[in-house]
Amino acid sequence: MEREHIKCLIIGSGPAGYTAAIYAARADMSPVIYTGLKMGGQLMDTTEVDNFPGYPDGVQGPQMMEDMKKQCERFGTEVRFGLATKVYFDETPKRIEIDSTKEVTADTVIIATGASAKWLGLESEERLKSGGVSACAVCDGFFYKGEEVAIVGAGDSACEEASYLAKLCKKVHMLVRKDHFRASKAMIHRVEKIENIEIHYNTETVEVLGEQTVNGVKVINNQTNEERVLDVTGFFVAIGHKPNTDIFKGQLDMDETGYLKVVPGTSKTNIEGVFSAGDVHDSVYRQAVTAAGSGCMAALDAERWLASRGIH
Ligand code: NDP
Repeated sequence: MEREHIKCLIIGSGPAGYTAAIYAARADMSPVIYTGLKMGGQLMDTTEVDNFPGYPDGVQGPQMMEDMKKQCERFGTEVRFGLATKVYFDETPKRIEIDSTKEVTADTVIIATGASAKWLGLESEERLKSGGVSACAVCDGFFYKGEEVAIVGAGDSACEEASYLAKLCKKVHMLVRKDHFRASKAMIHRVEKIENIEIHYNTETVEVLGEQTVNGVKVINNQTNEERVLDVTGFFVAIGHKPNTDIFKGQLDMDETGYLKVVPGTSKTNIEGVFSAGDVHDSVYRQAVTAAGSGCMAALDAERWLASRGIH
């Protein structure tokens, strides 16, 4: 197998990976990014981003990722399309297999592989992803100001996102597949108290309606089999995220849902020289700006770690 040595390897190309690269490149760490299959990460599925500081008129998600890529390349980052398929973090230097065909070794590794939103798996949901179907209320809720929307899910995220949407929208339908929530009591009380949230228990989605944009959702009561159409223009899915950490299992400490564990207040994982940035360890904030901030932290931690080992 072909092998090459890299001083600072960054795995993942969302805001966390690109920001880590900007800092690492400016600190002469010669970073190389392997982008993963989806170059740009979750923001490639977003339309307008209005909450990232520095874009007073908003920016399209894919454009913002292109800007970040250009910015890190400007300082010498090498951005390569490729997927890390196996890691050997118990070795020094770390060994990483790429696309199952090539190996690189690295003095330090920044993991910025992110998380992926879970989807229901309906054909109509997939087709309308850029026309009213979203997995992020904070990102896209604003477009449904004064309108009627539905949100699927019964966990803390769904409750939090429903509360957020309720402030903007005329009405929010919460579609809960069981006869109870999974969310914490406090969160349940919060949504129950909000007047423009209607909770539909035992309710599942049959189909999102609309050709180019959402104009309704067909739901079924799984106890009575009664179907009905809700007249919504936005359809939000909040059924959890899955951190992209499968290849790190058995090597890096993670919680029971697969999020990496870091030393609090730092980007340090349990392995010396391996740092984490962004949603891959953050199940709470999950914003582009927090991921970017976390990428900065990882690069600074990696730089200090290299310096402490005398690696220049
Ligand atoms: P969870 O895994 O906690 O909840 C997912 C929800 O989605 C469940 O209610 C589940 O239903 C539902 N669901 C899953 N698949 C489907 C489907 N196919 N159709 C319909 N419903 C479905 O994910 P969250 O993102 O809500 O939370 C993840 C973690 O983050 C949790 O630990 C949570 O506490 C935490 N969190 C904390 C927050 C806070 O403290 N402010 C805010 C947000 C998250 P069912 O119950 O039927 O299985």
